[in-house]
Amino acid sequence: MKPQMKHRVGLGFDVHRLVTGRPCILGGIVFTHARGPLGHSDGDAVLHALADALLGAAGLDDLGTLFADREPRWKDADSSTLLAEVVRRVHAAGWRVGNVDIVIATEGPKIAPRRAEMRATLARLLGVEADAVNVKGKSLEGLGALAGGMGVAVQAVCLLEHEA
Ligand code: MG
Repeated sequence: MKPQMKHRVGLGFDVHRLVTGRPCILGGIVFTHARGPLGHSDGDAVLHALADALLGAAGLDDLGTLFADREPRWKDADSSTLLAEVVRRVHAAGWRVGNVDIVIATEGPKIAPRRAEMRATLARLLGVEADAVNVKGKSLEGLGALAGGMGVAVQAVCLLEHEA
């Protein structure tokens, strides 16, 4: 008999300014682009939003609480390392990832041509199949403070499963 599962959803959001002189790392992959996310870590807003969605669903606070912004050891940190630690904690609490869905709003790097690569990278970090990870790029229609390629905003939702 199949075990009864319980499920929880989580929501994450992050926003970073895109500035010159920073590598453009989003969703764990490096884009060739004139501007990159400004941040204490590598500024990977996709991984940060995703980590917060996972932590939210598991009831484990948030990324800022686990990895304080001012701590020197997280300066320029590879956000893949931060996400790996979040996944470890989520798994340790008995949860596994069902699926995730991500919206990346930016007029910076073009997401669509790298979508398959990003999905595969995120799936590997989460320990799931690529079809359990969806990524959507969204333009900002030239509106708002993030327009003109000056920023990136990311929303992520996830579903976690646990044997009841
Ligand atoms: Mg962030």
